[in-house]
Amino acid sequence: MEFARSMGAWAASLQRRPTPQDDAACRTEARVLLEILGKERWLDPIKSQDWRACCLAREALAAMSPLADAVFALQALGSLPILRAGSPRQRELFALPALSGRSMAAFAMTERQAGSDVSAIATTATRDGEGYVLDGLKTYISNAGIADFYTVFASTDLGARNKGVTCFVVPAHTPGLRFVGPQILSAPHPLGEIQFDGCRVAMENRVGEEGKGFSIGLGTLDRLRATVGAAACGMAARALDEALRHARSRHQFGKPLGDFQIVQEKLARMATELTAARLLVYRAAWEADGGAERVTVEAAMAKAHATEAAQRIVDDAVQILGGAGVMASHPVDRLYRAVRALRIYEGTTEIQHLVIAGQLLKEEAKPATR
Ligand SMILES: Cc1cc2nc3c(=O)[nH]c(=O)nc-3n(C[C@H](O)[C@H](O)[C@H](O)COP(=O)(O)OP(=O)(O)OC[C@H]3O[C@@H](n4cnc5c(N)ncnc54)[C@H](O)[C@@H]3O)c2cc1C
Repeated sequence: MEFARSMGAWAASLQRRPTPQDDAACRTEARVLLEILGKERWLDPIKSQDWRACCLAREALAAMSPLADAVFALQALGSLPILRAGSPRQRELFALPALSGRSMAAFAMTERQAGSDVSAIATTATRDGEGYVLDGLKTYISNAGIADFYTVFASTDLGARNKGVTCFVVPAHTPGLRFVGPQILSAPHPLGEIQFDGCRVAMENRVGEEGKGFSIGLGTLDRLRATVGAAACGMAARALDEALRHARSRHQFGKPLGDFQIVQEKLARMATELTAARLLVYRAAWEADGGAERVTVEAAMAKAHATEAAQRIVDDAVQILGGAGVMASHPVDRLYRAVRALRIYEGTTEIQHLVIAGQLLKEEAKPATR
């Protein structure tokens, strides 16, 4: 609780920072936010893999600055494969500097033909002497162009599909690795494409064993999906606060909006959905903190439900605010633009539903009503 209180108070101070007006400003601001997050030691819960604290951190950050939340999330995504499967030297060189804010991480899995279907990864890593040569293009990569290193998923055996995927850590300045260009989102978020063209890396840049990249990647997402749900809860909670403030203070037809039962019904549904989302998120994080090896279903439920609920809550907040809610300068309008991507990245809602149903169907002997 103390962590949540101090993180929340600190995150509120981020509101004083200017909102980046274009992609270049967003990239500069992301680097500044990383430095501050590191200096204030808010990235420590990632290092200790304290998932409830990570969820509290993302809730607090996302409520006040979706960009700061994205910076936090990417340090986790880029570092966790190394913390969990990397060598002590890789942890020293890459993960620890990232988690003290001295170095920016990125996670490069998606390709133009390999979005939801990660097994279609076509970037290759070919054995060559004492190392590997990487070739291929990665798309929709957060922090592309500003990261100091990329945690990359490439195939060492295309025919083996999932079982041929291997994880590597590649410093951004490695010859043969090029930032292709930015992909501009409707909310501030540094995104872009990177190209590997005869990019030579040493054996010691391989994270874990050959062919284990798929399970390293999915194991990482397993842990982090609940935190995406937490970010969604943070955005929803802020939107609900803004809607409540408006419902109390805005008068129409001689009364505050909050006196109208149609508005009350919206507020009640928003609060109930947020509470249900939080329960799923912190249940998944609690299971992970308790040492559960896989929290695939819990995390999938948390991410799918919380992100879908947050979208509805933020949309209802815009409606309660009326015209003020679609002004670009209003925090609820910024949340409206920021919340949408959460239903897509780290596995879409549909993919989470396939994961949940797949598990239910496997467990036919156990009653679903337990
Ligand atoms: C803001 C943002 C940041 C991102 N950051 C990163 C990053 O840092 N690193 C990274 O590697 N990737 C990143 N991504 C990529 C993200 O993980 C992918 O966009 C996501 O996995 C979906 O892939 P896709 O966009 O190719 O959509 P597709 O896979 O083409 O899916 C399109 C639609 O089809 C549906 N669909 C697909 N397959 C099925 C199926 N079997 N059954 C039912 N429906 C299906 C999907 O649910 C979706 O609605 C980011 C994306 C965004 C938007």
